[in-house]
Amino acid sequence: MKRHNFSAGPCILPGSVLQKASEAVINFDNGLSLLEISHRSKPFVDVMENARILALELLGLEGKGYKALFLQGGASTQFLMVAFNMLEKRASYLNTGTWSDNAIKQAKIYGDVFEVASSKEANYNYIPKGYDIPTDSDYFHCTSNNTIFGTQMKEFPNSSVPMVCDMSSDIFSREIDFSKFDLIYAGAQKNMGPAGATLVVVKEDVLGKVSRQIPSMMDYKAQISKGSMFNTPPVFAVYTSMLTLEWLKDLGGIAAIEKENNKKAQLIYSEIDLNPLFKGFSAKTDRSTMNATFTLTNGDLKETFETMVNEAGINGLSGHRSVGGYRASMYNALPLESVGVLVDVMSELERKA
Ligand code: PMP
Repeated sequence: MKRHNFSAGPCILPGSVLQKASEAVINFDNGLSLLEISHRSKPFVDVMENARILALELLGLEGKGYKALFLQGGASTQFLMVAFNMLEKRASYLNTGTWSDNAIKQAKIYGDVFEVASSKEANYNYIPKGYDIPTDSDYFHCTSNNTIFGTQMKEFPNSSVPMVCDMSSDIFSREIDFSKFDLIYAGAQKNMGPAGATLVVVKEDVLGKVSRQIPSMMDYKAQISKGSMFNTPPVFAVYTSMLTLEWLKDLGGIAAIEKENNKKAQLIYSEIDLNPLFKGFSAKTDRSTMNATFTLTNGDLKETFETMVNEAGINGLSGHRSVGGYRASMYNALPLESVGVLVDVMSELERKA
């Protein structure tokens, strides 16, 4: 039976990408597996270079002073690496969810953190607005999409301070003026590839301003100078990310996928709003196009709904434990058809109830 994968991450990847990635595991270069050749060999160096170029090109950042890195340690390592490289005295953070909160905790190890605003009191069901960013901040950090709560920043503040954004769960999904940001990071395992690689896009001129000594593995400048190969890179994750970025470019890039993502989001949210058996979790103006969070209005229907969901081949719909209910993650590779199947189950439940 066809599976419809709504997993929050790791998540669905394009079928053609999985096919090519699996072929490369067996035969990538003249009978050798991608996993058994040197990362310094020309075929792999070309993969890394191509992945970097594609990332900058798709984000519209080539030739603008940015470097793209593929690092390890997940987005969680970026929580501390950003602070290590950029926090001298005080940084400002917008707290919109568990991941922002984790980033704040890590930054506090290295300096003062000023929380410009937080929606913690409402279990992060909205994005705070109208806050000021102190101009003496070393940088401002925000999370563009809150994977757990299903909220997404639709606008970003204008500020004279360097802007840093965790885009782990919506990078490459919608058009944004990416040049607004001095540093963007994202774990690969949503819109890019398998877990194991983290994309960092950084404007070189914001680096080198802190007085602390930075260990080489944590130092963006050292990583840039070694072309993301200070140590052995996660070759499979980088290769698969490159394939996904090629797939996206062939589809027409971010502008094209954004249209699809908007259709998927419209379909699920209109069902959530029209069907009395369901209630959305996040504030309507801040709803994420990537992760739709919702609950049943009548808990007695839980078992029936979940049985119907399973029978329809739907996977990964459980909400995160801090929100409960359901979360439909609709990353770039999820077809509109899968959202249609979920919406059909939701309306069928209404007919049955
Ligand atoms: N930031 C966001 C927005 C996330 O969704 C996640 C993981 N789901 C993380 C950070 C942490 O990423 P990782 O597991 O790669 O450290």
